[in-house]
Parts: sequence; C-alpha cells; structure tokens
Amino acid sequence: MKTRFLFLVLVCLPFATQAQFDSLFTSHSLRIDYVHAGTSNSEWVAIESLSEEAFWGGSKTNLIDTLRYGKYFFEVFDATTKQCIYSRGFSSLFGEWQTTPEAKTTSRSLSETLLMPFPKMPVKVLLYSRLFSGEWDTIFRLDIDPDNYFIQPVKKAKWPVFDVFGKADPAHAVDIVILPDGYTMDELGKFIDDSRRLAESLLEFEPYKQLKDRFRIRAVLAPSFETGIAVPADDYWPETALSSSFYTFDSERYCMTYDNKSVRNLAGQVPYDQIYILANTTKYGGGGIFNFYSLSASGNDLSSKIIVHEFGHAFAGLGDEYYDSSTSYSDFYNPDVEPWEPNLTTLVDFDSKWKSMMDPSTPIPTPAADSMATILGVYEGGGYVAHGVYRPKIDCLMKTFKGDVFCEACNKAIVNMIHFYSD
Ligand SMILES: [Zn+2]
Repeated sequence: MKTRFLFLVLVCLPFATQAQFDSLFTSHSLRIDYVHAGTSNSEWVAIESLSEEAFWGGSKTNLIDTLRYGKYFFEVFDATTKQCIYSRGFSSLFGEWQTTPEAKTTSRSLSETLLMPFPKMPVKVLLYSRLFSGEWDTIFRLDIDPDNYFIQPVKKAKWPVFDVFGKADPAHAVDIVILPDGYTMDELGKFIDDSRRLAESLLEFEPYKQLKDRFRIRAVLAPSFETGIAVPADDYWPETALSSSFYTFDSERYCMTYDNKSVRNLAGQVPYDQIYILANTTKYGGGGIFNFYSLSASGNDLSSKIIVHEFGHAFAGLGDEYYDSSTSYSDFYNPDVEPWEPNLTTLVDFDSKWKSMMDPSTPIPTPAADSMATILGVYEGGGYVAHGVYRPKIDCLMKTFKGDVFCEACNKAIVNMIHFYSD
C-alpha cells in the first residue's frame, strides 16, 4: 500500500528569523547517508550513517522549500511540536537510472545524502518520491535524536581550501564548492587555474553576472593518484579521488560519479549549497542533477558552456530542452503530468510556467518558424522527446551550445533561485 504525500503540515516556518534559526539549529550540518535501491518500478531506502559536519552553508531564513522542484522532497519536523522546520527538493542519479533500459532487467543501489542544519532537538525526517503519476509517495521515515552518540563527530579537514571568488556571508550567498577529480598532486596548480576559469565562465554569463556579488566559490585541493578520469570504452580506469567516469548509463558524453560518499566527504570541508566537480580531461562531457552535483570536463573547447549548462540543471532545476540526441532515458516525462522543471511544459498546467511572460498574441503551441527565433513561445520538442513536451524558445543554452544565452524562462528560474539562497 502506497502512503500518499499530502503535505499535511499545518504549521511551518516559510520565513524564519535568525533568532528562530538559532533556537532550532546549531551552525553545523547533519548529514544523512543512505542507500537508494530498486528497479524501474520499485524503490526502497536504507540508512547508512549519520554524521555532523563543521559548517552549514545554506540560508538561515529560507528554511522551507516553497518551489518543490525535484524528483524527491524531504521534510524535517520538530518531534515535540510537530512543526516542519526544514524542507528541500532534489533529484538523484538513482532516479535517472530508473528510466534506463537496464532498470527494466535488474536492480541497483546508489548512495545519496540528505543535508540539513544540525537540529538542537529530536526530529522526524520524511523522504518522499514523486511517482510517474505526479503523486508523492513516502519512501523513508527516520527519528533522529541529536544527542545519539552514533552520530559521527565532525572530521578534521584533510586538504587545503582555496578561495576562488567572493567574500559574501554563507547565509546570504550561493556557496559553490569545486572539487577536483583526476588531478595529481603535481596538477593542483592547474586545478586552481581551471577553478578560476569555472568561476569566470559562470559569473560572466547572464543572469549570474548581474548578481555575481551573491556568489561565493571555494575549491578543495584534493589530489588523485592518477591523472584523467575513467573512459570505460577505452579501458582507461585511473585511480582518482572521486571515481568520475564517462559513459554513465552507457552514454559516452554523460560523465558522473557513483561515489557519493567521497564527494560529500570532500565538500563538507567548507560551507556549501552546490557541489561542482571539475574532471581533468579534454574529452567532451559532463552532467548535472538538481541539488545533487554538477560535473564538467575542464579542458574541452566547449567547457565554458558545459559548465554553465550543467549548473542550470543542478542549481535552478532546469530541464534539457533538446530531444534529438542519444540519451538512455525512456518515459522520462509523463505527457499527462506537468513536469516540475520550470522551463518545460506538457501544457497540462501551463499557467504555472512562463505563460504570463508571453505576448498574448503568440499562438500556443507556437510554430517553430525561422522568423520566431526571438519570440518566447511554446515550441514542441524538449525533455528528450519530439512530441508532448514543449520548450520556451527555439534555442537556449539548455538546448544547444550555438548561442550564448538562456531563454527568458530559464533566466527567470535562475534569478528566483539566486534570491531564494541569498535574500
Ligand atoms: Zn531555456
């Protein structure tokens, strides 16, 4: 029997004050590591470990996630008052894997993490999964006593940290931590240069540029034993800090890592909202999953655009607007359900998307004629399919790398998210 997610919360704190935050949480994070396992049509979650981390990089006032993007959503309740004191949406590699052909024939488990400010009182955590039908299913419940001595204490920082950009207070900034993969000890100087280039690629691109003062970027200088990252089809498997690899889900350019724990161990050395992994390779590839992590090849000719595109997924929850390339996904979007991504629509609930930004005389759907290139509309094709999913513009950085701009819908979603983190 499925337990439906009803948002039964009667009391929550959409906007907290600093004093309210201080009464509920310490300045540290609580990290919950778990295994997410299943098949294409089943899933279950099992706890791995709880640990305390040295920093909380998130907002201290926007504690409740009112956007509700992502395939998953978790809520944290004060065990005594039943008040919801924290919530966040996210997606994961396991959720994507469920839409691949492999998930129809076998089961798989992947590691994931919930991160929240460290509570001062016992809490209950509920994790929900968004079903293909659009409904929510409760897949995990956990009672946590912050005094439990099995919560692993803060670990000593292992590697030096390098300040890449900005001076903003973590509570009022989008904090990005850049992690190196496939850089040997001798190549950490190159990693510092690549990190600076990442910051420049992102923060010189609108709408990030106009709000760049709200960003803070740090890099953790962790070396790998061997250079480069894995290319399974070439039988190249170097020993690296984060075990990143091309050919994720057998898509050559899809470059990700399954080693969530190593990623989180490195990231936890600094306050962070977003993780960006730089892979030391010239081969074309990358990936980005909402509130999970971004990854980009650092040395490809197109790296500056890969960096911005992947961060669009991981930071603002943007969907891919393309549909003509080879991905391993099937049934990624249900044509009868409005997708949660702010730049895609199935027209089931278009009022909730960019309709109000359109000229009322623009037809819905909008014909993709050459003369419409600058017109915000509703163009069929997006989200990996040619029919049934619609995108806002004929082209956008979430579709191709031909241009140098985001469409208006993507632009607005990014600006909203920057404010959510930093106001
Ligand atoms: Zn777009």
